[in-house]
Amino acid sequence: MRFKVKTKGHCDFVDITEKVRECVKAKRIKEGICLIFVAGSTVAITTMEYEEGIKKDIHSILEKYIPENYPWKHHLKWGDRNGAAHIRSALVKPSLVVPVEEGDLVLGTWQQIVLIDFDEREREREVIVKTVPL
Ligand code: ZN
Repeated sequence: MRFKVKTKGHCDFVDITEKVRECVKAKRIKEGICLIFVAGSTVAITTMEYEEGIKKDIHSILEKYIPENYPWKHHLKWGDRNGAAHIRSALVKPSLVVPVEEGDLVLGTWQQIVLIDFDEREREREVIVKTVPL
């Protein structure tokens, strides 16, 4: 299954937990795994507590070590300005696997599935969800 997510870029966090959960419920599997993947090299999927403080903390640590405003070699290749976005995506990763038990995602109480768009502009992303019964 697939769904679309509109983002603003520049480390934009979007909680996609409920949309992923809807995909799992629609597949009606009892036990298994759920793969969540986003197609794109400047975007990532992770889990975190989705709240303003941790969003700012993650953004500031990425900005400290992988700043947007830096002469990344990637900028010479295409003349674009999103070298930091590519590096952040490669490190945070574009996919996640979550166990499914009793027909639902197994997540911690404060653990959400979050898409982070690192690109330098607004984007529409497509999230792909695959459920595998075990
Ligand atoms: Zn690029």
